[in-house]
Amino acid sequence: MLHRSLRAALVLFLTTAAAPSFAQDAFDARFARPDLPDPNEYRSASGRPGPAYWQQRADYEIRATLDPAAGTLSGEQTITYANRSPDTLAFVWIQLDQNLFTSGSEGAQAFPGDAGAASDGGFEIRRVASGGTELGHRIRDTQMRVELAQPLAPGGTVAIDIDWSFRVPEDGAQRMGRDGDHFLLAQWYPRMAVYDDLNGWNTMPYLGQGEFYLEYGDFDVALTVPATYLVGATGTLQNPAEVLTAEQRAALDRARTGSEVVHVVTAAELSDPASFRPTTQGTLTWRFRAENVRDFAWAAGPRLVWDATAWEGTAIHALYRPEATAWSEAAAMTRHSLDFYSGYLIPYPYPSATAIEGPVFGMEYPMVVFVAPEPLREDLFDVLDHEWGHMWFPMMVGTDERRHAWMDEGIDTFMNLLSKEIYFPESDPVLENTAQYAAAILSYREQPIGSLPDEFAPEGPGLGIGAYIKPAVMLTALRELAGHELFDATLASYARTWAWRHPSPADFYRHMEDGLGMELGWFWYNWIETTQTQDLAILGVDQSEVGGEWQVTVTIDQRGRLLMPAAVTATSGTATSTVTIPVEAFYGTDRATATLTLPVRADRIVVNEGPEWGDINPQNNVWTR
Ligand SMILES: [Zn+2]
Repeated sequence: MLHRSLRAALVLFLTTAAAPSFAQDAFDARFARPDLPDPNEYRSASGRPGPAYWQQRADYEIRATLDPAAGTLSGEQTITYANRSPDTLAFVWIQLDQNLFTSGSEGAQAFPGDAGAASDGGFEIRRVASGGTELGHRIRDTQMRVELAQPLAPGGTVAIDIDWSFRVPEDGAQRMGRDGDHFLLAQWYPRMAVYDDLNGWNTMPYLGQGEFYLEYGDFDVALTVPATYLVGATGTLQNPAEVLTAEQRAALDRARTGSEVVHVVTAAELSDPASFRPTTQGTLTWRFRAENVRDFAWAAGPRLVWDATAWEGTAIHALYRPEATAWSEAAAMTRHSLDFYSGYLIPYPYPSATAIEGPVFGMEYPMVVFVAPEPLREDLFDVLDHEWGHMWFPMMVGTDERRHAWMDEGIDTFMNLLSKEIYFPESDPVLENTAQYAAAILSYREQPIGSLPDEFAPEGPGLGIGAYIKPAVMLTALRELAGHELFDATLASYARTWAWRHPSPADFYRHMEDGLGMELGWFWYNWIETTQTQDLAILGVDQSEVGGEWQVTVTIDQRGRLLMPAAVTATSGTATSTVTIPVEAFYGTDRATATLTLPVRADRIVVNEGPEWGDINPQNNVWTR
């Protein structure tokens, strides 16, 4: 709405101003920029932590018991929470993700039919205490507010004890769950919510589509399961002599020193538990320790083949049921992923990496991935490699997945294209990714990359395009614009700078612009906050001979509102010439021309050719004589 006095002024302006100058002065909305918070002492203008950057820390000691017959998991835990913020905290928030799996949960209402809504899960919280004193607490859906006995001053630490249990859902929203006696256990213990300089307490509920935002810390975990079960988990097993046979320990030692795949437990052994377990009676307790991680996940079952190998001292494990035959390559695929991403970004820092097959399509936790049986080799690689890429984003670079899915899913999907080109040299993952994006946006109402994960419509490809595929198209295009070497070095610098920290989108934008030497406000805004598309076309070509050379004038038309610089190349035989029209040439206009010089008349002219550029209509990017 426009106020009447303003309208009168506008009419006067329109009738007196000359039309052409009005057009030239108008703001070109294609050059809008994201509205970023100002840099401050916590986060610098160069996309690095500021001098006063802080984040909280949460260490966990957990003792848990799985009762497969009852289908329940129960535990007692102590969270040691360190307040490194400048604020005094009277209360803390703790995440109770299992509360998604009750029929009345907000997630069950938001996404009916999804999220295991029909299951009778949810936490039973039996005790919340500190130093022997019961603490008042209230539970709101998947969040619990705990009143501290004394306010927690800056620099202070509080230990919070919680006793809990829940029934393990069969379908745990594709993040955890069970298939008979095979259990994948994640989001299984009360976890500290993040308190940060951006949002204070991060208390967005767990609805199912938005993943997590968690603090870093150390974990000491004791897991009691039937003696016939094997366990795979985050971290390093502390008591192998108590839970493994001498042969298995010897096999694991062999696996750690070589690069071949060693069979720790074979399919043939599974029919007789006594052949591969130290005892088959009662329970055994497996103890794990993990340092500097944001979460802990594990799996347990009585029918698991166990392969082991190593990468640069990191123990690699693959645990799978014998029917999942493609999984015999899972350990080798895992080694490829650790090797590739370590070289591309920063070396994998953890002592173990365990891939576990089960009733979850694909999900990542520190040092652990859950992946479905996947009968086809290439499909298994796609999911495994994606989940291992998540060890860098968001396991090391600890972004807020509940708000910004693209910051982990999108950057990961982008890297997966580079990794797959090596493992499957005959594949063309960049072409597939761009084609999938270009096809999908024709058939559904697209939502911007920057949408909250739980805002994406559960039907259709919304989250898949918006958080995974399109951000990968965007980053592949930026790599073309910036040059591969500098882009790769800058992305690695971002990973190194923000590992074990909590970067925001603004930190990512600033870090990339700082390293690439590019002002990319228009780029981030259009790619991430709008659904505009990129469609450059060659509108006209004019060639003339001037002083023994050929001058080639190429007119480029930006048919989409998502602008890109135009890299124009003219070739004739072996002669070639390239000119890039900067995006600023298109301010206020769709068209600009490039002039190239060749010794002979050009036969072929292209603009932003190839799926790397992310142009949705590549046919009009090529001109031939
Ligand atoms: Zn993912």
